[in-house]
Amino acid sequence: MTSWQVGDIKVSQIVEMPVEPGELDGLIEEATPEAVRSVEWLYPDYANDAGQTLWSLHAYVVETPTHRVLVDACCGNHKNLPLIPNWGGLDTPFLERLAAAGYQPEDIDFVLATHLHLDHVGWNTVLDGDKWRPTFPNARYTYVRDEFEYHSGLREGVAATDDLAHAVVYQGANPDIHSQTRLVFAESIQPCVDAGLVDLVDSNHEVSPGVRYTATPGHTTGHHSVTLESSGASALVTGDFIHHPIQIAHPAWSSRGDTDRARSAETRTAFLRSVADTDLLVLGTHFSGRSGGHILSDGDGYRFLPTEG
Ligand SMILES: [Zn+2]
Repeated sequence: MTSWQVGDIKVSQIVEMPVEPGELDGLIEEATPEAVRSVEWLYPDYANDAGQTLWSLHAYVVETPTHRVLVDACCGNHKNLPLIPNWGGLDTPFLERLAAAGYQPEDIDFVLATHLHLDHVGWNTVLDGDKWRPTFPNARYTYVRDEFEYHSGLREGVAATDDLAHAVVYQGANPDIHSQTRLVFAESIQPCVDAGLVDLVDSNHEVSPGVRYTATPGHTTGHHSVTLESSGASALVTGDFIHHPIQIAHPAWSSRGDTDRARSAETRTAFLRSVADTDLLVLGTHFSGRSGGHILSDGDGYRFLPTEG
């Protein structure tokens, strides 16, 4: 279990599972095996000898002097995920790992999501008999309103048709994005709404002292990273606007999972320019191996220097 200290804030990584190598090949089209091998600093954490990018599914628990905040709730157990079948029907010891880090479900005060894709809201709920119930009974599930309403619209089939580009995300599969979104809502979001635990907040909302949503649009329109600030130290949990560290070397390379690839590239480029060579701790949401580190200038681009935590 890895943790980092950000001033008075402790951040712990809770791993759900590594992504099977090869499963997300092609998600970043430019990341061919040759291109991957040419970025030496991706080794050993973020790429393998076959030139494949490596990915992880994990959450972060942010413990401040006042609150415990879970950021991005992974895929969850026993979920119905036809869009990415290998991530559905899981039975991982995520909650046992959360306990090993020192947190029971009752301890969590806020559940945040950088966006409402299936691999960021799964542990919102657990299966109890044949019903889904909120995993964190004392938490406020706090979402940015625009992101919530966008996915509500998608669920009802009223989102713009060009958002359906999103449906070709994985391995050229052609699933019905609307039906997957409906399933994610039914299993992972609506039970929290029905329990009265969901709060919708404005863009860039401060959730708790030192914990703030920060707009990083492109992967989804309402995508927000989570900024942490305490005693002069700062960190940022990326979510998916930096999907893989190779995008630090090549900020213009967007993911096929991005709703708006041009905007994603703009957001990433501006972010990297503004934080390069600073003390900001960047905590990657799908970075495998050492997922926290700093951004350094590197020729025309940037590189990621992982820290041990
Ligand atoms: Zn994701």
